[in-house]
Parts: sequence; C-alpha cells; structure tokens
Amino acid sequence: MAGKPKVGVLALQGDFREHLAVLNDLGADVVPVKRPEELASVAGLVIPGGESSVMDKLSRMFGLAEPLRAAVASGLPVYGTCAGLIMLSNTVLDAISGQESIGGLDIVVRRNAFGSQLDSFETDLDIPVLGETPMHAVFIRAPVVESVAPGVTVLAALGDGRVVAVEQGSLLGTSFHPEMTGDTRFHEYFLDKVRAA
Ligand code: GLN
Repeated sequence: MAGKPKVGVLALQGDFREHLAVLNDLGADVVPVKRPEELASVAGLVIPGGESSVMDKLSRMFGLAEPLRAAVASGLPVYGTCAGLIMLSNTVLDAISGQESIGGLDIVVRRNAFGSQLDSFETDLDIPVLGETPMHAVFIRAPVVESVAPGVTVLAALGDGRVVAVEQGSLLGTSFHPEMTGDTRFHEYFLDKVRAA
C-alpha cells in the first residue's frame, strides 16, 4: 500500500464529491462508501460535511452505523469534517431529538455553535502540525469542540480559544472544510496516517 492507499468517503449525504476529488488528486485510490462491503474494503475513511442528523439517519437506514462503530473501534483511520466531526464525537450538544453519533473522539461538540448571525465565515488558522503557513479555513454552520478528554490533541483553535481541530489516535476532526479551499495539507496529513496504520 506504499504509494496508493485505498480510501473511502462516506457518500450518504453532504459534500463527499469534493473530498473524493481532493483525495484522488493526491494519488489515493478513492471509493464512495454507501454500503458495509465498501467500508470493509478501505484502509481509511473520510466523513464529509453536510447535515449530521440526516447522515445519522441514513447511516442507520443503510446498515452502516454499526459497521462504522466497529471500524472506528478497530483503529481504522477516519477523518471527519464539520458534520463528519459531529458524527465522530462521543457527545453532541444541540443534536436533534433521537440523533446519534458514531463516536470515537472523546470530545463534546456543539452543533451550529456560531448561531444564525455568524452562520458561515472564513478565517486563517495556525495549525502547527501542518507547518508554519496558516490555513485558510471555511466554516459553514459549523460545530465547535467544547471540551476534550485527556488523550485528545488540539490541532487548532480560533483566536478566542474555541477548539476547531482535534486528533485522537487514528481519528482526526475539523469544524471547517479543507476540501473547499485548495489547501490539501489536512488531507495529506490524513493520508500519512492511513499509510502509517
Ligand atoms: N450544521 C451541520 C450539522 O449539524 C454541519 C454543517 C456542515 O457540515 N457544514 O450537521
């Protein structure tokens, strides 16, 4: 698997096409994942942005929720952006009634944390693990990480200290959307984790 890891993108809902394109451009062998068989075939998975409550419903409907939990538990590298970060969080605040997550990241996230006045915004973030150049980050009805357990590494925070990127073991999550800006460093960082796994 040295050069071309097989990586899936959960393709139930949301902006999975953008992630497929970025990963393809980076030389990964990419597969849209809608079924358990497809999940079983990949060495890493991206959960895209979209709407976490819908993604949750569809993943249960498609019989993917339990296989996803098992994959996370077995150490599959998974990178969640925005709604995908919500899906990977052990605790979700302001979820809709009955909404579940896959879990894995020992964090508390709050959905739609920026309220209606600041629904969407862009800013430059320092992300030391990706090098010195700040990353331009796009937030769209984004969640924020309200607390992290010991063992979770904070990769990036806003100027006011609110956490927007985390890593724990094989899991990676960002509140924002690196698939939209042309800066592929987060996807490269994820592919390095997949290759190392
Ligand atoms: N607000 C959405 C949710 O709760 C996330 C938005 C996004 O993924 N851009 O799932």
